[in-house]
Amino acid sequence: MPFPPLRWSLLLALLCLLAPGLSQGAGSKRSRAKSPRQFVSIPGGESLRRDAAKAFQRMHTAARRDSINLWAVSGYRTVREQRLLYRRYRQGLGPKAARPGRSNHQRGTAVDLIVGHEMSPIYRWLETHACRHGFRRTVASEPWHWEYLPRATRVPAPGTDCLGQPLPPRATPASASSDLS
Ligand SMILES: [Zn+2]
Repeated sequence: MPFPPLRWSLLLALLCLLAPGLSQGAGSKRSRAKSPRQFVSIPGGESLRRDAAKAFQRMHTAARRDSINLWAVSGYRTVREQRLLYRRYRQGLGPKAARPGRSNHQRGTAVDLIVGHEMSPIYRWLETHACRHGFRRTVASEPWHWEYLPRATRVPAPGTDCLGQPLPPRATPASASSDLS
């Protein structure tokens, strides 16, 4: 038996109400699926936003050439992870952590590194070389916390390090080739 006209119009009205919700649902699924691809793994198993991860990888390789291993212990954090760290900090059970939404770890542009103290070879290397890769220390009380801020980080003049000191002479390709001959 065919639907009376009133039932059809009710059915159409119902479809119109549901349709925007359905398309919105599909859209949010797509945007959620995109977000993990913005973050890329870095040595140590953490991840950073794609551009920061590439810069970190270059810095890591440069450090290795100087026998320095940059070991990341915290990179990108989800809101949930930041919330947990912040709660632990507030309870006096963990190190200082920014309020959820205020940390550059959530943007994937901050990385915590094992540096030891401020006179350690790792810290000294970062202090003199990190700016070349767009990284800088941003929290006075946290020597381990480095952020990728390429626009706000001054690149040193040729032949000088991030502190403005002359770079030590490096082994040149010429001296390397003399080893081979
Ligand atoms: Zn940090």
